[in-house]
Amino acid sequence: MSLLASAAAPAGAAVEQRVERLLRRMTLDQKIGQMTQPERLDATPEEVKRHHIGSVLSGGGSCPGDNRPADWVAMNDAYWKASMEEDADHLAIPLLYGVDAIHGNANVLGATIFPHNVGLGAMRDPDLVERIGRITAREVRAAGVDWTFAPTLAVAQDPRWGRSYESYSDDPEIVAAYAGRIVKGLQEGEGGGGVLACAKHWVGDGGTRGGVDQGDTFVGEEELRRVHMAPYASALEAGALTVMVSLSSWNGEKCHAHRYLVRQVLKREMGFRGFVVSDWNGIEPLADDYAQAAAMAVNAGIDMVMVPERWREFIAALGEAVRRGDVPLARIDDAVARILRVKFACGLFERPRPWARAGANGSSFGSHAHRKVAREAVRRSVVLLRNEGGALPLDRGARILVAGRRAHDRGSQCGGFTVEWQGVSGNDRIEGGTSVWEGIRAACTRAVLAPPGGELPDGDFDAAVVVIGESPYAEGMGDIRNGGTVRAGANHLPGGPGALEPYGDTLELAELHPEELAEIRRARELGVPVVTVLISGRPLVVGRELASSSAFLAAWLPGSEGAGVADMLFGDRDFQARLPLPWPEAFSVGGGCRGTLFPRGFGLRLR
Ligand code: BGC
Repeated sequence: MSLLASAAAPAGAAVEQRVERLLRRMTLDQKIGQMTQPERLDATPEEVKRHHIGSVLSGGGSCPGDNRPADWVAMNDAYWKASMEEDADHLAIPLLYGVDAIHGNANVLGATIFPHNVGLGAMRDPDLVERIGRITAREVRAAGVDWTFAPTLAVAQDPRWGRSYESYSDDPEIVAAYAGRIVKGLQEGEGGGGVLACAKHWVGDGGTRGGVDQGDTFVGEEELRRVHMAPYASALEAGALTVMVSLSSWNGEKCHAHRYLVRQVLKREMGFRGFVVSDWNGIEPLADDYAQAAAMAVNAGIDMVMVPERWREFIAALGEAVRRGDVPLARIDDAVARILRVKFACGLFERPRPWARAGANGSSFGSHAHRKVAREAVRRSVVLLRNEGGALPLDRGARILVAGRRAHDRGSQCGGFTVEWQGVSGNDRIEGGTSVWEGIRAACTRAVLAPPGGELPDGDFDAAVVVIGESPYAEGMGDIRNGGTVRAGANHLPGGPGALEPYGDTLELAELHPEELAEIRRARELGVPVVTVLISGRPLVVGRELASSSAFLAAWLPGSEGAGVADMLFGDRDFQARLPLPWPEAFSVGGGCRGTLFPRGFGLRLR
């Protein structure tokens, strides 16, 4: 994919000419269609043509056919073909399809699934992050898709936030050091080109009070710029051509209606010439009247609107707003010019139909070579927090008891945004890869797995490894809140949850999941060193679990390659990872995290 070097000047004169020429031929309906993004379950290829739709997305877990790369290519082929038919009523403008490939192309069965961002933050390795971007792009292109809603550039300040794992760090410098490199990796790709990146969520999503998803970030402008905007400069510099607006607010004002933040700061001041996309139904809360909400968002500077189901209503509403003069035609022209500019600049018009593209349904999807890189990322992201009496490294010849409900659970290792929006537990739906147990078993023939909750097997063990942690979650469903419900997201999708409850009301693991401490204590009764591995999207308060363990590892959400965790247990190499954010000492339901058990940057070595 030929992407231009800088977002400030993403398009040369030739592109600008093409944009202008095409724009001049377009009717108002065709322009509004370009600005409209439905969800695949609600829009057929025939409708894409009839309404001149510019983009379609898959919400988390929304997958065609049997959810194989070939099914995705076939779906994209059908949409593309519909968008490219030229006749008296329709102009050929290639459809742009978007997915959440936020840790590999993890919606699709058999994909290589990388650690979620919080784990990558622990690596402090921008080179490896860029490489992960390249591989992700290749696996996204294998599905015939051209656009990923990644990277998340949130600078998450409060582990109560259910999206903490999507954030590399609470330190803007760490996020900024990755932002440009992941964009570069995604957009350049490897073996035939990249995909469009989308920096999200503009802006302040990681700073909401109490870590409430879609909440309110109460900070002064200086702090908003220094902490939350900082990573975007590096993403734009690297050529990010799309930005997604946050569902959160800044000082009481919704980002989706924030003309100052979108038009003034992002577009004028920072010189962003790509397009801005709204988030899922992000215009809904702006006003009771849908037409008014649409006008507010577009006037604020949003160019493409993610309206998964209500897109027909949106098209009518925006048309009406323009005719009434509530949205100037010049704003519509600017929005469409930006969308077309990105489509031209990334070479979308030159690309053949998805089935004919290099790498479509390619054999490198989920390949051993890709998984090797993911396994390396796991090794580099596991943080050693405690190692008493030289419990680690383990000996490959030792008799090791492996216990805990996360020991053999590839789904929980992957966390949210994996196959389903909320992720999946167990092993059935994560094809390929290894659980932590499978990694240990491959390294140590004398290891024995204890069934979770069942009797511990008899045996004269030398050590125990207990793998514990959180169940998968995404967005507000992962929030830790003192009561309240979560605003609906993609929950209408098949397999989506019914009740919208937050994850819990405490980050104290012994209260959130008391069974984990019980499991550690049971293993301890064997009288052997207990090595605890924590699978989680954020730091949890683990004083009691830590005190009951000889060694303790934070493995974050390592993804499909659990063997990378096992590698670190046997000491083939030393630990390098460092905490990407401070680890709290205590938690109170009313007040959140208190004190620091380990500072950001902490991480033990074996030697
Ligand atoms: C999330 C976005 C995501 C979008 C599309 C929303 O619920 O906030 O991060 O890109 O859904 O799936």
